[in-house]
This record gives sequence, C-alpha cells and structure tokens, in this order.
Amino acid sequence: MLQYLVILLSKDSVSYCHYDARFSDSNAVNSDKQTEWAENNLISKEDLKAGILFAMKENLNIQFVYPKKELPQDYKDIIHTIDHTDIRHISAKTNPAAKGSDQTEVLLQDTVWIADSIKEFTQSNLTDKKVAVIRCDKEELLSHFRKISCEETEISCEETAVPCEEIFGINEKTSLERINIVIKDIDTFTDSDFTEYKSVLSKISLALERIYKQGKFLQINILTDRIMLDKMNNCNAGDNNLTLAPDGRFYICPAFYYSGEEAVGDLQTGIDIKNPQLYRLEYAPLCRECDSYHCKRCVWLNKKTTLEVNTPSHEQCVVSHLERNASREFLLRTKIFDKEIKEIDYLDPFDVRKQW
Ligand code: SF4
Repeated sequence: MLQYLVILLSKDSVSYCHYDARFSDSNAVNSDKQTEWAENNLISKEDLKAGILFAMKENLNIQFVYPKKELPQDYKDIIHTIDHTDIRHISAKTNPAAKGSDQTEVLLQDTVWIADSIKEFTQSNLTDKKVAVIRCDKEELLSHFRKISCEETEISCEETAVPCEEIFGINEKTSLERINIVIKDIDTFTDSDFTEYKSVLSKISLALERIYKQGKFLQINILTDRIMLDKMNNCNAGDNNLTLAPDGRFYICPAFYYSGEEAVGDLQTGIDIKNPQLYRLEYAPLCRECDSYHCKRCVWLNKKTTLEVNTPSHEQCVVSHLERNASREFLLRTKIFDKEIKEIDYLDPFDVRKQW
C-alpha cells in the first residue's frame, strides 16, 4: 500500500541513494542566473501544488528532495503548507540563505542531510544534526578504514586501537542519532572487497561498542538496523512509495527517473504501474525467504544488474549478509538487546534456494 510520496523539486535535486542525480545528456540546466536555473529545472508550481493535493487525498507522507541551489520564496511558501520531511545536501546547512526565518530554522531540524562522500561528511561538522546519509563509493569506504588499525582478536573495545573519532569523524559526544551509509557502486564488489568489507564492519562494531558504553545509542544502518528488526524493512519503491519528478510524472523511484525509465503515470491520469505485484516482497522469490531484514532490496539495482526488478544481484545479497552476520556478532559480544540472530552458513540466498 502506498504510504510515501517523494517529490523531486528539481532536475538537479540531490541523490540520497545508489543512483547519480544527473541525466546522461545533462538536460538539467546549470546556470548562475537564478531565474534561468529555476525556470529550466524546478518542478512547476502547478505540479508542486497538484502533487501535494494528491498526497493529501491519498493520505501519503511527503519527502521533498532539494537541489543544492536555494529555492525561490514562492516555492518555500507552497512547501510549508504541508507537514513533510526534507532531504537536502549538507551545503544547505551552512548556507545562511537556507536558514531564513525562525520557522525555517525549526524545520531544518527535521531534515535528512546528504553528504556525497565520507570526506564531505567529516568536513561538514554535521554531527550536531539528527540523521545523515553518507553516499560513498566502495573505494572511498574501504580506504577510509584501511587507515584505521584494529587487532581483530578476542578484545573488548577499550583495548582496541579503534578510536571512534576516526570512524566518519564521530565521537562519544555526537548528537547524531543515525547515519545511513549508502555504497553507490555496490554492484562492483569482488571477492576480495567482500573480505575487506567484513573487516570494515568489525571496526564499526568496535567503535560503536565504545560509544554505547558512554551511554549514547547511535544507529549506523549497516550494523544496527538488522538488530532492531524482526521482519523485512526494505526500500519498497513501487510498493509503499513512489516519486513525483519535475516533469509532473510518477516514477518508481528517483533512480528510474534519472536513468530514463518509463514513467508510471502522471498527475492528470493517475498511477499506472505495469505488473505492480513484481515490486512486492511476496513476488520476490529469494527475498521473501531471506532474513537480512535490513537489506535495501533495491529494485533499481536489481533491474540494472539482473534485468528483473524482483531478482537481486549476488553482490547486493552478499553485502547484506555480511552486514547481517556483523550484527549477529555485535549482539553476541555486547548483549545490548535480548535477542538472537541465528547462525547461517551462506552469504547468498541463491546458493540455498533449493532448500526453500
Ligand atoms: S539479501 Fe538478497 S535475498 Fe535477502 S533481501 Fe537482500 S536482496 Fe533479497
């Protein structure tokens, strides 16, 4: 059942997931002239109002995705007519124009902040906010952790050489409540990358243990989400959320819009998804049996890598299972929750499909 509507305010809205928010033919207009940029990139005010009305009628929560550039005031006035969540690039945090009135400053507290690399995140001093997304590529993530030494033995975190300050620049005093790590090129993982990623997860685990011992509970999606879940909690694009793009049409998610996939309806004629069942968990033969409950189960990555929206790639499954297993070990070591994640002997559910 549809619950969320993502509204891309501009052709150059930030990306908050695996996809790059650019068109291959660069049809978003880069211009220093605010009026020219706004006219050529922003969703029209009529479509914005119609999108809000659509969400109100369907009882959907709205998530607005912003461009890096400042929106004209008349757009902000329309946006403020409805409760919503904002998704913005971290540069807006330091942009005085983005703050404006007291009302806007309060609204910024409920923003999901996007950093396009670990470097951007650590330089942003974003740790005074609540929720941050760090989009990084595989090589940046692995090399960030290569610099952090850690003896992976039977050690408690106090005895390790894993200073939490070195992990994404956070420390025990952070007021951040949640970090979402998004690995942009997850489909390029090799066997040696899997081995290295396992060590990355161990280091995050040791640093988080130290933070928890200080009485602070910070969530890092790739380690803590699985611990807190008892059933599947995936992205669910095409099932519980859809995207309204600046062209006034609906898409399965922003990635489908930016990669030139067909729209699934528009504001005039409504939603029309072909084979809508394929986006539902019960029609994903591997995922419906899986217990990597935190997995994004990204239908866009599925389509990109296997040509089927309901069939995941080997890489997506193995990365999710390494995270699942790291969550299991974290639970066993810290006993932070009274629950258990069972031991399994596979990393890709495809390998055990016959048992299901
Ligand atoms: S790990 Fe693989 S099978 Fe399991 S939910 Fe994720 S994509 Fe589906």
